[in-house]
Amino acid sequence: MKFSAKNRTQYIQQLKNDTFDLVVIGGGITGAGIALDAITRGLKVALIEKQDFAFGTSSRSTKLIHGGLRYLKQLEFGIVMEVGRERTILYNNAPHIVLPEKMLLPIIKKGSLGKSSTSLGLFVYDTLAGVKRKERRYMLNAKQTLTQQPLLNNDILLGGGMYVEYRSDDARLTIEVLKSAIEKGALAVNYVQSNGFKLNSNKQISEVIVSDTLTDELFNIKTKKVINAAGPWVDNLRKVDKSLKGKRLHLTKGVHLVVPKERIPIQHSTYFDVQDGRMIFAIPRGEIVYLGTTDTNYNADTNYPFADKKDVQYILDATNYMFPSINLTTEDVISTWAGLRPLIHEDGKSPSDLSRKDEIFISDTNLISIAGGKLTGFRKMAQRAVNVVCRQLKQEENRKFNACSTAKIQLSGGNLENKSLKEYARNLQTQYKSFDVDDVLALVEKYGSNTTIVLNYANEKFNGDTLLAEAYYCMHHELTNSIGDFFIRRTGRVYFDRNSLAENIDKIHSFFTEELGHDKATANLFLDEFKKEYEGVVSFRN
Ligand code: FAD
Repeated sequence: MKFSAKNRTQYIQQLKNDTFDLVVIGGGITGAGIALDAITRGLKVALIEKQDFAFGTSSRSTKLIHGGLRYLKQLEFGIVMEVGRERTILYNNAPHIVLPEKMLLPIIKKGSLGKSSTSLGLFVYDTLAGVKRKERRYMLNAKQTLTQQPLLNNDILLGGGMYVEYRSDDARLTIEVLKSAIEKGALAVNYVQSNGFKLNSNKQISEVIVSDTLTDELFNIKTKKVINAAGPWVDNLRKVDKSLKGKRLHLTKGVHLVVPKERIPIQHSTYFDVQDGRMIFAIPRGEIVYLGTTDTNYNADTNYPFADKKDVQYILDATNYMFPSINLTTEDVISTWAGLRPLIHEDGKSPSDLSRKDEIFISDTNLISIAGGKLTGFRKMAQRAVNVVCRQLKQEENRKFNACSTAKIQLSGGNLENKSLKEYARNLQTQYKSFDVDDVLALVEKYGSNTTIVLNYANEKFNGDTLLAEAYYCMHHELTNSIGDFFIRRTGRVYFDRNSLAENIDKIHSFFTEELGHDKATANLFLDEFKKEYEGVVSFRN
C-alpha cells in the first residue's frame, strides 16, 4: 500500500535518498493541491508536513466551497468568477465531499442587506459565478421566509434570499487530494518539519533541512525547487530564509461552535447578520448544527488556537438575536474549533476587510512562498505556484512539462457513478446487507467510492466493527498514525461527535499503538496531542 503508516520508515528513507524537482512544505489544502498539480505536470515531488496533514487551517475552516458572495460586497469581481468556476470543478471531481446546500439569507431591519440590493447582488453572483440554472437565487417575502425558517426573529424580518453554497469537509478534501497525488507517484510524509535550507554555490536553495518529529532524527532533502505552503507559518520559513521583508502575514482567528440540532432545529443553512455588521453561518450537519465564525486579530500559539469565552458568547448572542426562541447557552455547546486565516497584511484594514486574495513571493534564494487565498481556490493557487516552478525548470534545464490538468482529475473516492450520495449508499448496502444503510451512508460521506474497501475490512478483519475498519483503512490508505489523526482530521469526530468518543478512546489508541508497534514514548506523545485538542475544544468553559 502506497500511503500506509506501516511504511512510514520507507518513505523517510526515500526522502533521504532521492533528489526531487520540488519539495512542498505544508500538508494543508494548498500544499496538497500543489503536490497533485506538480506530479501531473511531470515533476518529481515530495511533500512534508510538520504535524498531521490538514493540521493547520485546513481542518478548521467553515468548510464551505464558496461561490464568493462576500467578495461581491468587497467588489472583488475577479475572485467571484474564479471561485464560482472552481466550485463547479470541485463538485464534479469530488461529489462525495462537495455537496450543494441551500443557504437562506434573511433580510432584516437595519441589516447590512436591503431587499433589492440582495436580489441584485445574488443575480450578479449567479451570473459571475456561472451558477447552474436550478441553483439560481430566488427571493422570498417575510411570510415565505418564515415558512422556510420558522425560528427566525419575526420582529425584524423583512424577507429573504435563497441561494446555493457547497458544503465540504476541509480535512477530508485535503486528504483526498493528497491520496490522488500519491496514486500518481508523489511522496508525502507527515510529522516531518522543515527547519531551514542549505544553499548551493549560487546561493540558491538546494536542500531542505528537516527533522522527523516522531524520532527527532535530522536529515536533509535534496531538491531543485521549494514551495513554502505553510499557511499561518509561511512567514516563519521566510524568516529562516532571511527573506521576511515587504508584505507579511496577518493572522486572524475564526471560531465555530457545535450545538445539537434539536436545540436549533433549522431547516436550511442560514447566513445571517450580526449586529456589529458582520455575518455568520448556521450550518446543519447530521445531528448537529455548527455556527460561526468570528474574525479577530491573533498573536498567540499558532499550533493550538482555541475558542475562548468571549468568542463563544459572541456567536451565541448573535444566534439568539436572530433565532430568539431558542436561548442557546454555553451548556449547549458540544464542541468548538478555531482556525487562523493566513491573510496578507494591509495597513489600516480591520480583520474582516482584509483581502482573501493569494500571493506568491519569490526570495533571493528562490524560496517560493504562497500565502492568502481560500480552501475554495486551492486548485488555481496550486496551478499558479507550479507554473513558477515549471517556468524556472524549463529555462534552466530545457525541460518540457504537461499543461495543468487538475480540473479534469477525479479525486480519490469521487467515483459515485453519477449517483447521489444516498443512491450510491443504498446501492452499496444491497451488496453489504449486514450493514445498516445509514451506517453505509455515513461512510460514503467520508470515503466516497472507497467505502467498499472499508466495508470489506469490516467484514474480513473486524467482525463487522466499522469503527475499527475505518481506523484500519485510514492507517493503511491515508498515512494515519494516531488516535488524534483519526478522530480529529480523518473523521472530524472530535468536533461533530465528541460525546461518543469517551468510550472509544482506549480502544482506538491501543489499536494504533499495537498495529504500528509504537514504543511507550511515541504512544504517550500521540495520546497527549489528542487530549490537548479533545480538551481544548471545550476549554472555553474553564
Ligand atoms: P494550512 O491548512 O494551515 O496548512 C499549512 C500546513 O503547513 C500546516 O498543516 C502546518 O502544520 C504545515 N507547516 C507549517 N510549518 C511547517 C514546517 N516548517 N514544516 C512542515 N510543515 C509545516 N476557505 C474557504 O474556501 N471556505 C470556507 O468556508 C473557509 N472558512 C474559513 C473559516 C476560518 C475560521 C478560517 C480560519 C479560514 C477559512 N477559510 C475558508 C480559508 C481556508 O481554510 C484557508 O485558506 C486554507 O485552509 C489554508 O490552507 P493552507 O494549506 O494554505 O494552510
